[in-house]
Amino acid sequence: MGYPELAAGDAKKACLLLEHALEYEENSVGMKVRVAFDTFLQFEVEDEGKERMEPGQWVFHVKDCLTDLLRNTYRVLLKAVEFTLDPWEALHICQGAKIRFPDDEFFPQEFRVYKAQFEKARQTTREEGHEGAEANRQLIQGRVYLRQYPFMPLGYLRRSETLIRSLERELTAVSPKCKLARISGSNNPDVFSGPSDVLGVFASSDIAVGDCLFVDTTVVGATNTLLTPDEVICEACCGTISPGGQETVSAECCSAVYCAKQCQTGASISYHKVLCGKDFRWLSEAAKTANHVNHPGLDGLVWLRVLSVCVQGNCHPLEHPLLARLTPQYQSKTVDRWSYEWNVDIPIRILRQLGIDVWADHRFDTWVLLTVWARLINNRNVKMHHERPVYGVNPLFSFFNHSCEPNATWKSSTGTSTGGTTVEITATRAVRQEEQIFISYCGGGADGQGLNKDQRQEILMPWLGEECSCSRCQRETLQKSTRMSTFPSS
Ligand SMILES: [Zn+2]
Ligand SMILES: [Zn+2]
Ligand SMILES: [Zn+2]
Repeated sequence: MGYPELAAGDAKKACLLLEHALEYEENSVGMKVRVAFDTFLQFEVEDEGKERMEPGQWVFHVKDCLTDLLRNTYRVLLKAVEFTLDPWEALHICQGAKIRFPDDEFFPQEFRVYKAQFEKARQTTREEGHEGAEANRQLIQGRVYLRQYPFMPLGYLRRSETLIRSLERELTAVSPKCKLARISGSNNPDVFSGPSDVLGVFASSDIAVGDCLFVDTTVVGATNTLLTPDEVICEACCGTISPGGQETVSAECCSAVYCAKQCQTGASISYHKVLCGKDFRWLSEAAKTANHVNHPGLDGLVWLRVLSVCVQGNCHPLEHPLLARLTPQYQSKTVDRWSYEWNVDIPIRILRQLGIDVWADHRFDTWVLLTVWARLINNRNVKMHHERPVYGVNPLFSFFNHSCEPNATWKSSTGTSTGGTTVEITATRAVRQEEQIFISYCGGGADGQGLNKDQRQEILMPWLGEECSCSRCQRETLQKSTRMSTFPSS
């Protein structure tokens, strides 16, 4: 079907099921698979009119058939990952399969092929001048096209009227100066009819320069977990609590620490209950080495937070109010960084640890998780706080549209903690009532003011998917064409 990332998810789940069936315990999922498979084989024997086996012989027959099926499923998994151009992960899968099937010739052969591919890719990155962590980052990532799957229910493709109404109320409740409104133009006129669901933030009254528009907190975020002895990080907002300063707030159920009562309450009502007491150190350990905002260790912690929010809310991820509001990044001309480990394997592990039956509960299918991923990367705000990368998806901040000459800017809030995911938005010039409020997606100091049009365009492409048409870009294009036409043509 051309969706290798989905095939990888299904193959991974099938491998897990078969592995459980081969090493089953009483009353486990493996036992159920074993019983079902046994019945299936008995029918097969009857259909083919074969002779019945002795019970002892039968047990071995079932085991052999399961092993064969597992071997083939590993091959499917390998091919799916190969299509995502991820030789590093393919190597890993081959390595695992070589140990499991020592007599099989296929996996050692494939191992050599992927090894050669990987070495070649390494050579190319070296020749391109990439070294160290940057080179590894490029090497160990696959590429997939993030897109709208044709079988997705229409309700997941755009925001409902009820949701838009509640989002309008949500913004008005935190900000007397701002309101949410539709802007003209649809993000996909081929699929949608009716009013556009593209939203923007507008001034509901005149705003003076320097005015704080609102402070936006979120529980969806992650940061590096390597702390110095006197550092404390708030579990909810990921902010650093200065030593000897603000009193911290402890959870009632465990050793979790928060910067304020608001963060503790936020954690408790949205995600903390389902993960309290469960050991997710394997994820926080991986985030210890996170030294940049695209580090996979942060992705792992964000997955944990997002999935916990959905499990605690007992909600389909695409229907959860925090995720239903976000628009995805579907610029079909670009492929996005993707890894089998961090986008398939680890979410499945997290879900199982949270008590979700990943085979029976279709709310957490691979296509759903990939759609969540597309929404997160389109709406996340990332920054470095000193040496610490911080990744947050804020519920209201994501509604600001971009302009290369913005009238508002944002910074990390310095309330009860510093450098966390809480965002404070302020006006950088006077804004008239009914004017749209824009921020710059360019970042890079002074909101990208020093960058030329081409440099800005390169940064903006993943979000806009086309040329930026803000007032500054239009003006610069006009100036350029005027210069061209007045240039002597002798
Ligand atoms: Zn906090
Ligand atoms: Zn707890
Ligand atoms: Zn622009």
